[in-house]
Amino acid sequence: MDAAIAHLILQNRKIAYAITDHDLNVVEVGGVVAVFHGGDKTILGRSLLDLVPELVSSEAVLADILAGELPRFELAWVNRQTVKGQTLYLTLVTLPHRDRTGQITGLIHLMQDVTEMGTIDQQLAQSRNELRLLQDRLARHNLELAAANAELRYLDEIKSTFVSVAAHELRTPLTSISGYVEILLDKEFGPLTDDQHKALEIVQRSARRLLTTTDNLLDVTRIEAGRVELVLQPTDLLALVETVAAEFKPQLETKAQRLTLRAPHGLPPALCDETRAAQIIGNLLSNASKYTPQGGLITISLVPAEEESFLQVSVADNGLGISAEDQAKLFDRFFRTESAQLTAANGAGLGLYITRSLVELHGGCIWFESEPGKGSTFFVTFPIADRPATASSSKHSASRP
Ligand code: ADP
Repeated sequence: MDAAIAHLILQNRKIAYAITDHDLNVVEVGGVVAVFHGGDKTILGRSLLDLVPELVSSEAVLADILAGELPRFELAWVNRQTVKGQTLYLTLVTLPHRDRTGQITGLIHLMQDVTEMGTIDQQLAQSRNELRLLQDRLARHNLELAAANAELRYLDEIKSTFVSVAAHELRTPLTSISGYVEILLDKEFGPLTDDQHKALEIVQRSARRLLTTTDNLLDVTRIEAGRVELVLQPTDLLALVETVAAEFKPQLETKAQRLTLRAPHGLPPALCDETRAAQIIGNLLSNASKYTPQGGLITISLVPAEEESFLQVSVADNGLGISAEDQAKLFDRFFRTESAQLTAANGAGLGLYITRSLVELHGGCIWFESEPGKGSTFFVTFPIADRPATASSSKHSASRP
């Protein structure tokens, strides 16, 4: 090989070489000799073991190479401090040095500066270690999270059981209170004075309110446990809305509110659970009445929904309205707007949460439009049944995943 090319390679790859005789004394050096610690003057004639003390105790191996019994010997990660305090990483390869006849006359030692590679390797090893540490930490966090989740699920189950048991326990005596008050109000146990009548009406209203709250609590636990079953059947939605409206007549009359019902002729039947659909429309109508002042206007409209194969029911009022800030939280459990809390209207903030869950169980949607001080309109959709409402019903069930 051209000497200039050889020199270039040695420079470029930061390689120095030294040739030693049988006694391991340096007889020739070349390449980037600085790699060998100092200049060539101090290297020539010196013992290799002085220059590379890492070879001490490897003399037997070197002797084997000299004897032609071993082809090569390699030392990795030899390090040296430069005068500037920098650490260099070197590799040393020792090979037999032969004359023209092939006789081994000594050893040739190739020393390469691999600091750059070493640094990259070190960084890589460090990054790998850090990654491993992070993975360990992540695995630990995951375990802790899983344990915390299990604990939360357990507490949630206890809470649901507690709520469910408490609501059931409250419901039975409440039903009998309500029943007996009704008998008293019907004067089946004798005549009542005006004061007695008024007092009993208050008891009846309170008992009903408590019953609604316990029923709502039971519904929430059922919804969350995925235990709501729908009995879907083709239903005349207009007839159902009229029934619900009739039930609310006394409540609307107390507040002198006017209810208008709009529906085109010949709407197809909806596929819904009658009891749950009545609950949905009842909740919306109850809210419209509760959050609309005396003398307000409420309008229920039935139309084919924009989405094909759905009917839309809307309940509009000209009441309090809902601020933009509150609108985002309206379907959250236990959420009540501040303006609602300032009114005499009772509620636990569960109605819309339950309503939304029930609408979605039917495969429909719920949304609203509202302007504070002007009123609100709530929209719900129900799927259209593919059979007439008069056809015999069949039982379908749907439960939340
Ligand atoms: P509740 O009526 O028992 O408080 P809901 O879940 O039915 O609970 O409603 C949540 C809240 O949404 C109400 O407390 C009220 O602040 C607001 N809201 C619901 N419907 C209306 C409405 N038609 N007009 C104004 N605010 C409403």
